[in-house]
Amino acid sequence: MSLEMKDVCLTYADGEDRLVALDRVSLHVAAGELVAVAGPSGSGKSSLLAVAGTLLRPDSGTVRIGGVSVGELSASERTTLRRDRIGIVFQQANLIPSLTAAEQLTVMDHLRGRPHAATDLLAAVGLAGKEHRRPHQLSGGERQRVNIARALTGSPDVLLVDEPTSALDHARGAEIMALIARLCAERSVATLLVTHDLANVGHAHRVVEMHDGVLT
Ligand code: ADP
Ligand code: MG
Repeated sequence: MSLEMKDVCLTYADGEDRLVALDRVSLHVAAGELVAVAGPSGSGKSSLLAVAGTLLRPDSGTVRIGGVSVGELSASERTTLRRDRIGIVFQQANLIPSLTAAEQLTVMDHLRGRPHAATDLLAAVGLAGKEHRRPHQLSGGERQRVNIARALTGSPDVLLVDEPTSALDHARGAEIMALIARLCAERSVATLLVTHDLANVGHAHRVVEMHDGVLT
């Protein structure tokens, strides 16, 4: 299933004015494809992911997930679509300090009311044997792996990834990018990744640049 955005505009209130965060953005990400959006801080990358992830409604334009036009869904249909089809790796991992790596994933399963193999997913991201560690017992790169595994618990069709390497050194960042590329291919997930760091986009099938809300 693919992610498709067409002529998407998003503005925020800015005093008396509106700040244009996304300016007629069109983008297609096919199943199994990894598309990177590179742009400086403030260029609209997180806003792009929020709209793609149905967390924000655009002012105009359409977002389609697997051919379904998100704007035509009710709020509850949108919530269901997000839960079942979309995985989001937020820039801040926001792991729950008191929970083990495995429990970070099973919490998501409880929310969905479906069991999932946390152990298998953690192994898939390279954390076999570390299921029982809490966040403070994991390195930054390992916490990012838990973050990614958690986003995949619902077997999403679309994976949205915000600045996955920003808190990591270069070598760890490269490993995380390789991991995302592998998961994207193995699971046929349409993956949209945003970053300010062009050093890390080598694994992408396609790189698009964003400046002031415009994709170039
Ligand atoms: P990036 O992720 O590339 O740093 P963002 O999408 O976070 O960019 O922000 C794009 C622009 O929108 C910035 O100018 C930012 O200040 C502004 N912005 C982001 N979120 C909000 C918000 N909730 N309300 C008002 N302005 C916002
Ligand atoms: Mg951002």
